[in-house]
Amino acid sequence: MSRSLDTLRFDNRFTRQLPADPESTNQRRQVMGACYSRVLPQQTRQPVLVACAREVAELLDLTLETCASEQFLRVFSGNEVLTAMDPYAMCYGGHQFGHWAGQLGDGRAINLGETLNGRGERWALQLKGAGPTPYSRTADGLAVLRSSVREFLCSEAMHHLGVPTTRALSLVLTGDPVVRDMFYDGNPQAEPGAIVCRVAPSFTRFGNFEIFAARQQWDVLQQLLDYTIRTDFPHLPEPDIDTYLMWFDEVCRRTAAMIVHWMRVGFVHGVMNTDNLSVLGLTIDYGPYGWLEDYDPDWTPNTTDAEGRRYRFGQQPQIGQWNLGQLARALAPIVGQVEPLQESLMRYSSLYNDGYNAMMAQKLGLSTFDPATDVDLINDLQSVLQLRETDMTIFFRSLAEVAPVADEADAQAPFEAAYYQTDPLTEAQHHDTLNWMRRYADRVRRDGAPHDTRRQAMNAVNPKYVLRNYLAQLAIDKSAEGDHTMVQELLEVLRRPYDEHPGKEEFAQKRPEWARHRAGCSMLSCSS
Ligand code: AMP
Ligand code: MG
Repeated sequence: MSRSLDTLRFDNRFTRQLPADPESTNQRRQVMGACYSRVLPQQTRQPVLVACAREVAELLDLTLETCASEQFLRVFSGNEVLTAMDPYAMCYGGHQFGHWAGQLGDGRAINLGETLNGRGERWALQLKGAGPTPYSRTADGLAVLRSSVREFLCSEAMHHLGVPTTRALSLVLTGDPVVRDMFYDGNPQAEPGAIVCRVAPSFTRFGNFEIFAARQQWDVLQQLLDYTIRTDFPHLPEPDIDTYLMWFDEVCRRTAAMIVHWMRVGFVHGVMNTDNLSVLGLTIDYGPYGWLEDYDPDWTPNTTDAEGRRYRFGQQPQIGQWNLGQLARALAPIVGQVEPLQESLMRYSSLYNDGYNAMMAQKLGLSTFDPATDVDLINDLQSVLQLRETDMTIFFRSLAEVAPVADEADAQAPFEAAYYQTDPLTEAQHHDTLNWMRRYADRVRRDGAPHDTRRQAMNAVNPKYVLRNYLAQLAIDKSAEGDHTMVQELLEVLRRPYDEHPGKEEFAQKRPEWARHRAGCSMLSCSS
């Protein structure tokens, strides 16, 4: 047997320093007073490696040769546990769709341990879909190919877009069928099972803290808090009440920054429950997420959320704050005061707004945000983008091409390139669009940057390539037939989403009409 993974150096601090569940079976249960339960991955029948992300392998000091080895496949399909690993599932709770849901926990994620790379960085490894844990409730602990392709590709796409996120090392087919009722309509089907290995400094969520507050286990809550500060926020002083407040303030700032990025690239998380928000401000848990095609702040990809649209694109910033409010409530009894927590929550709003304005100014190629003119310019652009279905990604990319002295025909071009409708504009639409473009051109002239400089700056923040919903679905369809080339091809293009990729322009095009209402392309359920 090849032993190529022996170079991985483990330092399993989470299990070493935090209270464990004394039981280590995977029988479903309420786990009291413990941060985690030890549990082993389930054996898989016939694992096949679908893809591996080379940059993530590099983070772990693994060579591509190692990633292609038999041992790699055994370990990242759950068939072999290295002796230095200490696999466990975390205990957490959460507010789902605005309501306290009690204990949730890693129902289908098994942490293998924490590695230290040659640069001293700590990276936790986690298999998603490797079998049941005490937290699996009524479900099977497994994951299907479609959701795993989506998680694998999107984690990496987000990283390369510059959005803070958990990473994905590998995507493996297990060879075992997994039964899912994709639309919860009484049509269960066997689908290919798969496992993604996720990688992050830590996977700690708001819900890890909430569960101990809900159970009034203040000692465990404090232990987890001290541990998190020392391990994941080593730049903060030794834990005490002031440090807890600084920590919460930092979680607020990181969450605001993360959501500004989501709004920049047109990402809709889809299930912003408090168990799906990382205290590190990383995008985590890629489920029924989606990418805005036509600019619509009310859009949500999640069919489970279709009615209330709680997690729609335009509401993500407010939900971030609501979730931080739940984290603050969990911490309040420990810090013994409410006002400083509330101040951080208030600061979240102003930080988010400032971040959003600065980000939009960048998207527009302006070297600074001028509140006197740019608040209106940005608001009015949002209205103009909604006059008719306008592809957000294509619009901003095309806008960079327009010189500020453009004539009227050129002025219309960035919109024309991005419209989904083909019928001519109405008089009023034409008027509003041209009017906005004239103001924009004036503003760009006042800004004064040379055309080329502005163009380059815009193309560095407005991606050409995002993981369009239908592209992920096409890759999934091919993979399900055993052809994994499109997964690899998308991974390759999405590594450099701001660059031109001659020959791959099709991946930057508008969503085709057939995908408008197709399952997986426009509507996604939580079934995964
Ligand atoms: P989500 O909102 O999809 O992140 O998941 C909510 C909770 O359900 C988490 O505790 C998950 O671990 C759990 N869960 C989701 N799918 C499964 C599954 N197939 N088996 C076991 N637990 C699951
Ligand atoms: Mg989750």
